[in-house]
Amino acid sequence: IHLGSAAVAVNFSLILKKGWFLTQIPFVVITLISAILLPLSIRSRKERERLEEKLENANERIADLVKLEERQRIARDLHDTLGQKLSLIGLKSDLARKLIYKDPEQARAELKSVQQTARTSLNEVRKIVSSMKGIRIKDEMSNIEQILEAAGIELIYDEKEAPKHISLLNENIVSMCIKEAVTNVVKHSDATVCKITIHQKSKEAIITVEDDGTFKGDYPPSQTKGHGLLGIRERLEFANGRLRIETKDGTKLIMSIPNDSAAKDKEGMK
Ligand code: ATP
Ligand code: MG
Repeated sequence: IHLGSAAVAVNFSLILKKGWFLTQIPFVVITLISAILLPLSIRSRKERERLEEKLENANERIADLVKLEERQRIARDLHDTLGQKLSLIGLKSDLARKLIYKDPEQARAELKSVQQTARTSLNEVRKIVSSMKGIRIKDEMSNIEQILEAAGIELIYDEKEAPKHISLLNENIVSMCIKEAVTNVVKHSDATVCKITIHQKSKEAIITVEDDGTFKGDYPPSQTKGHGLLGIRERLEFANGRLRIETKDGTKLIMSIPNDSAAKDKEGMK
């Protein structure tokens, strides 16, 4: 209706050839063009919103799948280690109960073996719990790969670069920092490429996460109001590391974390 009435009005005014109308004609044409393009731009915005929603759902689904996989892994570990050991303990203590009067010596040997099995089970539980506590960089990288792929951002990362002399706690900290940095790249940067590098130096490991987008935060970047960058800085400082941010072409986070001397000694002894 709008376009039709505008066209009629323009033709009518052209016939009348009013002076004021002729001077305004470029603006009228611009208005007409924008009125023609409006539905297209609304459609593309709607399409974008739909895609963004789809991406969000996909990310949620990925996170759920990762959680499910982790739960299944724990269940498998528990079944394979504890389940088997507990049934062994059950069998052996039953045998000991039967033998206690008939062959006390054999019963004692069985009970000793029960004790040993219980001890190894406890060690295995400790191992499972500590493997649950730490997120390894390798595992985090595969999550990151999926997130970036879903967001259509190319990841440049060399598998072989993982730091060698890092404690489990520090590895956990670095994993969380890389995850937050990549979340920011997906959320804010409008980048097409995200590059992650890890350099092992003699005293520390340097981890960089950079993108080719534009930094949208406050300047200097250390004064931003969000929790993400602050969290990265605090975590690194807790481990005696440092965070530097460069925002020249895109955003570059340079994180350093000291080597674990115990891990290095172990490596040296091997
Ligand atoms: P939160 O992490 O608490 O959910 P946030 O992401 O906004 O919120 P920060 O992670 O501290 O907070 O980031 C602060 C601001 O810096 C962001 O709001 C964003 O404007 C800018 N920023 C951070 N990383 C990037 C990046 N890779 N590209 C562009 N802008 C970024
Ligand atoms: Mg953030």
